[in-house]
Amino acid sequence: MMKNGVFDMALEQLDTTAKRIKLNPNIHRVLRHCEKELTVSCPVVMNDGRIEVFEGHRVQHSSARGPCKGGIRFHQDVSVDEVKALAMWMTWKCAVVNIPFGGAKGGVQVDVTKLEKEEIRRLTRRFTVNIMPIIGPRHDIPAPDVNTNAETMGWIMDTVSMYQGSTVLDIVTGKSLDLGGSAGRKEATGRGVMLNTMELLKRWQIDPSKTSVAVQGFGNVGSVSADLLHKEGCRIVAVSDVSGAYYNPAGLPIRDMLEYCATSKNNTLEGFDAAGVSKIKNAELFELDVDILVPAALEKQITKENAEKVKARAIIEGANGPTTPEAERIMTKNGKVVVPDILANSGGVVVSYFEWVQSIQSFFWDENEVNKNLKKVIVRAFEDVWNLAQRDKIMLRDAATQIAVQRVAQAMEYRGIFP
Ligand code: NAD
Repeated sequence: MMKNGVFDMALEQLDTTAKRIKLNPNIHRVLRHCEKELTVSCPVVMNDGRIEVFEGHRVQHSSARGPCKGGIRFHQDVSVDEVKALAMWMTWKCAVVNIPFGGAKGGVQVDVTKLEKEEIRRLTRRFTVNIMPIIGPRHDIPAPDVNTNAETMGWIMDTVSMYQGSTVLDIVTGKSLDLGGSAGRKEATGRGVMLNTMELLKRWQIDPSKTSVAVQGFGNVGSVSADLLHKEGCRIVAVSDVSGAYYNPAGLPIRDMLEYCATSKNNTLEGFDAAGVSKIKNAELFELDVDILVPAALEKQITKENAEKVKARAIIEGANGPTTPEAERIMTKNGKVVVPDILANSGGVVVSYFEWVQSIQSFFWDENEVNKNLKKVIVRAFEDVWNLAQRDKIMLRDAATQIAVQRVAQAMEYRGIFP
């Protein structure tokens, strides 16, 4: 295991909770391990005839509460350590919102900006075949994550279907609508970020129209979060992506920025310009004097190096693991509130669950139905976490992890350890 890697961070969070709630040490020992880790190499014939080999992983952390669920990430920094951490967080995420799934994650170490679409398609199909022994509609159901999307899910679904000899809709979620996807799935994670933010503002009795927001990342999660918070009346003063950070204290034209990204190179904000908008350094976005900060890019963005400089009153974790435990301690000491990833970005997996249910039944809901049910789940989960944190005077992350770990532990106690 990598020293000080992200999996260490996930273990630290589990250990802290286990100690506080006096978790059965046997259950704790099991939960510190992932059930299954599969590492595969994927040879791909590139367009120029060369063969490149990409390493990928699929990790299942716990299936105690149901089939494992988790996204697939394509990124140059993917490692088994990272995938294990993300798989463990998926277990807690599914449990905290009380959906009948365990946690998994997948990743391929690849810089997609250097590949042509056909090469990415061949890589996706090869990776799918390599992990097919452990995925399946009743075992482990992948979904999109960083640099993967509905199109990628379509390729995975088709690959599995070709082997099966029939169309297998429930093998992945996050599919496009014409392929048995769910209405509202694409926006679900950002919608969940917005709903969590609204619940927090309600508790603080702050009007959204008096709320300023900065968002790191303008991909699926960041852009939808910014758009929906903007629609709720919040002023989005800064957003960033790999091309840099864009700032306007009077509020950014989010709709124009979304339209720009739809057709720009690599769908980034590179070259975006509008009246009143200036470019700032990516790191400066974290130091802005805003009410709400939404890190929605990658993990370990708020660390002990920049935590003291965070001025936002609340950090809503759109990304997975954007705040290190040390940074969270510093920010909590400074009176900041962190709405943890396993709650803040759970909207995606909740609607993935709805999609899986719809795929199994081949009976599809309209978007209002999806959004109404999503809201019900998020509002209830936020309330559970908030009330426990208030009652025991603990951080929201500790409350969320406690609820999740207790639910998973309970399932394990009922099932017993095989054989
Ligand atoms: P994405 O690939 O659609 O977007 C990632 C965004 O982050 C891009 O705009 C990219 O340019 C930007 N980015 C990357 N590095 C950056 C940097 N150093 N500074 C500023 N911006 C940077 O990915 P996504 O699906 O939006 O996922 C983002 C995060 O949310 C990840 O942590 C992911 O695990 C998490 N998440 C995603 C979902 C989902 O449904 N997609 C669900 C739950 C959690």
